[in-house]
Amino acid sequence: MKLIADLAAIPSPSGNTNEVVTFVENFLKELQVHTYRNRKGGLIATIDGQDNSKHRMLTAHVDTLGAMVKEVKANGRLKIDLIGGFRYNSIEGEYCQIETQNGKKYTGTILMHQTSVHVYKDAGKLERNQENIEIRIDEKVHSAAEVRALGIEVGDFVSFDPRVEITPSGYIKSRHLDDKASVGILLQLIKQIKSEGITLPYTTHFLISNNEEIGYGGNSNITPETVEYLAVDMGAMGDGQSTDEYTVSICVKDSSGPYHYELRKHLVRLAEENKIGYKLDIYPFYGSDASAAIRSGHDIVHGLIGPGIDSSHAFERTHVSSIENTAKLLYFYVQSNLVI
Ligand SMILES: [Zn+2]
Repeated sequence: MKLIADLAAIPSPSGNTNEVVTFVENFLKELQVHTYRNRKGGLIATIDGQDNSKHRMLTAHVDTLGAMVKEVKANGRLKIDLIGGFRYNSIEGEYCQIETQNGKKYTGTILMHQTSVHVYKDAGKLERNQENIEIRIDEKVHSAAEVRALGIEVGDFVSFDPRVEITPSGYIKSRHLDDKASVGILLQLIKQIKSEGITLPYTTHFLISNNEEIGYGGNSNITPETVEYLAVDMGAMGDGQSTDEYTVSICVKDSSGPYHYELRKHLVRLAEENKIGYKLDIYPFYGSDASAAIRSGHDIVHGLIGPGIDSSHAFERTHVSSIENTAKLLYFYVQSNLVI
């Protein structure tokens, strides 16, 4: 939980993930795990297995939703353009950080232009959109020229304050649990493999992808020997969904179609044999790095599991028991036989 909180605290909107990837790289270096960075900026860690002729790959993504400065407005505020799929209402009122191209950081707040009820009669009725939402920078600026004098320009990355909190009741509340919860789980799993001296049956790659929210994080760097590819990413909760904050969600189908039937059955078997709480579910508006890998033409057995995340791409929350159940299933999965 602490590791997940640490990961969530590092700003990493898709397109600006170097800092968080370096954090992961250092974590793995300490465990003496071999890693390399792909050109896109993602990280691949490999643990040799008994059988090197067939490989397995697991992925989780460190990139998150975010925004970019679209326009420096005449009133000294910033118009933004969204990175990833979410609604403006989910960031209204959020504190944020603007990072200039030279690495300078400023803080601000994301607000409706018409926020003050003492001035704007229809403030509640107006649409939350690119026109009405703006960033109020915590600097004495009242014109575009004054903002530019700070070094702020079109294209600067904006990240949202995750406001990470672990409650005594076992919840973690934070933005970007999608998918930093899963990254934390994979890192902990690698640590466990190392500390328990576990020999994996097959050479296993862990891809820490950095472009998932924009659709193409985990669709490359898949070795020709790779048979199975499992994405570890959040389970989607809401009306009619079976996913919850306490079990591991095994995705049977999302917008991209069904996941590999044999792999799904294998994961269910492992969960039942080891008394792991799980739910089967369909995610209506969802694609994963595993479906992106299939789309890019890789002939692999693909699957998707992950912790259940409430209010995804907004005010996210999950419980330690969902993290534990996901971690347990992965622990048994990496030591199991391939399904084909
Ligand atoms: Zn995700």
